[in-house]
Amino acid sequence: MQKGKINVTSENIFPIIKKFLYSDHEIFLRELVSNAVDATQKLKALARKDEFKGELGDLTIRVDIDKENKTITIRDRGIGMTAEEIGKYINEIAFSSAGEFLEKYKEDINAIIGHFGLGFYSSFMVAKKVDIISRSWKEGAKSVKWSCDGTPDFSLEEDDTKERRGTDIVLHIDDENQNYLEESELEKLLQKYCKFLPIPIAFGKEQVWKDGKYEKTDDDKIVNITEPAWVKAPSDLKDEDYNEFYKILYPVAEDPLFHIHLNVDYPFNLTGILYFPKIKSNLDIQRNKIQLYSNQVFVTDSVEGIVPEYLTLLHGVIDSPDIPLNVSRSYLQSDNNVKKISAHITKKVADRLQEIFKSNRPEFEKKWDNLKLFIQYGMLSDEKFSERANKFVLLKSTDDKYFTLDEYQTLVKPNQTDKHKKVVYLYTTNKVDQYTYIAEAKDKGYDVLLLDGHLDMHFINKIESTLTDTRFVRVDSDVVEKLIEKDEKRESKLTAAQQEALTPVFRSQLPQDGGFYMVNYEPLAETQLPIKITQQEFMRRMKDMGQHSGMNFYGDMPDSYNLVINSNHPLVIEINEKVEGALSADIKAIETKIAPLSEQLNKLQEQNKDKKEEDIATADKDLIESIEKQVEVLNTEKETKLNDFGKEEKLVKQLIDLALLSSNMLKGESLNAFVKRSIELIHK
Ligand code: ADP
Repeated sequence: MQKGKINVTSENIFPIIKKFLYSDHEIFLRELVSNAVDATQKLKALARKDEFKGELGDLTIRVDIDKENKTITIRDRGIGMTAEEIGKYINEIAFSSAGEFLEKYKEDINAIIGHFGLGFYSSFMVAKKVDIISRSWKEGAKSVKWSCDGTPDFSLEEDDTKERRGTDIVLHIDDENQNYLEESELEKLLQKYCKFLPIPIAFGKEQVWKDGKYEKTDDDKIVNITEPAWVKAPSDLKDEDYNEFYKILYPVAEDPLFHIHLNVDYPFNLTGILYFPKIKSNLDIQRNKIQLYSNQVFVTDSVEGIVPEYLTLLHGVIDSPDIPLNVSRSYLQSDNNVKKISAHITKKVADRLQEIFKSNRPEFEKKWDNLKLFIQYGMLSDEKFSERANKFVLLKSTDDKYFTLDEYQTLVKPNQTDKHKKVVYLYTTNKVDQYTYIAEAKDKGYDVLLLDGHLDMHFINKIESTLTDTRFVRVDSDVVEKLIEKDEKRESKLTAAQQEALTPVFRSQLPQDGGFYMVNYEPLAETQLPIKITQQEFMRRMKDMGQHSGMNFYGDMPDSYNLVINSNHPLVIEINEKVEGALSADIKAIETKIAPLSEQLNKLQEQNKDKKEEDIATADKDLIESIEKQVEVLNTEKETKLNDFGKEEKLVKQLIDLALLSSNMLKGESLNAFVKRSIELIHK
């Protein structure tokens, strides 16, 4: 028997391995099983080259728990090791500047294992003693047993008790890690790390449902799929195969929308399948569902920084031997290969979408509502992707038709270009709430887009910045005549003076809370509504943005609306006539008093217009002030009369309520009052 010290030039490695983060302990299994897979693959390679001429036999790797002896054994039928090889590969741990490195990465077991090639030694995270019992494939090789109890001391003897080729790693599990002796616990780890390894792994026995309970059979249970879909040729797979594989990855998810099979061998090796998942609501979005593999060994499923941020919304697997297995995350993110991979995936995703769009547009349109979020997110966060996506990003109209950006421009340009030569895209955020406005726009022959997605507002900002002569305007941001301003002369039946007099009448009935109203008159067609409420596009966007970005300045401002009165509508004319009929004598009397005062005021101001404030005579100043006061009192008197009149006018209230109602702004008590008043009016 040979005794010796593991050759560690610096300090003892064991305490370092031992103390590692408990959550990372579990990777011991990944390391040992992938060593077993490597050993098996190597043997197969030797057989292919005819260097190994014996029987390969059953190459299944076996993982066994022995509860009584508190051991876990990983058994392979690979190339095995001779005593000399154990000496070389296991006993010599090539440490260079170990102390420094360990200090730097003491929180990151992956980095340490990767740096030193210590996969095997990760077994000491869970075991107090490890045995290697191995027999090399080489002719005449004897079986050897190596043992180490977590100190630098090991023993190595040729005992020749192992008859078959291959390696058994026996872990004597320490007291703190007894949980790994539970079958369910180990099964979980195998599922996580080994599910797609290329050599069959047997763990436990298959069970069958019999007489109301599960019973173990004599058949080995194979826990992995040795040939997952992504390693197969795309030409060998049908849509169903891709969906089936998706179900294996995400058993409870709905069928995906599309898949993208990645298959690159230059300038780096990369395979994988990405899926566009079906998202029902925003709550469904789960990032980091993409799993990263290196030669079918699971590396991680937290891929931020590795794939472009917007692609973390996708599902699937990426496998690349160029993705280093045992390195720290920060290293992974700065790794050049990883960066290239990320750029490549972006290109592939865009190409694939373009291809589906071209070859099967109806299908693409059918899935658009679900796809939209990814594509918009991609376009907003990645310029390269955006350039490509410009060709297939779609706009959906309120008639459920889909257009590319170019198509839409062509469609609306003739009819929706305003007098400043800007093409105006009309949109709604809610087909039901904004129904009246949509209907009016359509009556005028305009098209209205439906933009009710979570990213639509950001998206239109982006489009407006690229398509310089295009503007998005929400249908309810102005009266239909002014949504797209054209050079049209429109006559008003009410004079400016009449409009001014009517303003207090209408103001008297405006809602007292919930916003600030400007009263405007527009000479609209008689067939249009008498009163409408609009909200300026700019202000509304500012407010929305403010609320979303937490910039409260705009967000906290009260809503401001326009009360637009159709100065050609018969009902408005009727109200004007009523006002004039009832109040013209009173108003005239007041105005007769105002007229000479105004005249006097004008004169005084004219006389003093070139003087500086301090050069105006005090007498004049006092006079001006006193006349202004008198005019103000008279004006207030006039307004009060109009206001009082308006308050009693049910028709005014009714028209305003109808306007509020068609903007979905009449609620609660006001709505109730409206309903009662309507019945009264009909009853008369
Ligand atoms: P790495 O796998 O990164 O090289 P390890 O510490 O896991 O580092 O293993 C060191 C070496 O020991 C391997 O490269 C391999 O030559 C040998 N080895 C480990 N496990 C086995 C095994 N089950 N069968 C044959 N050789 C093995």
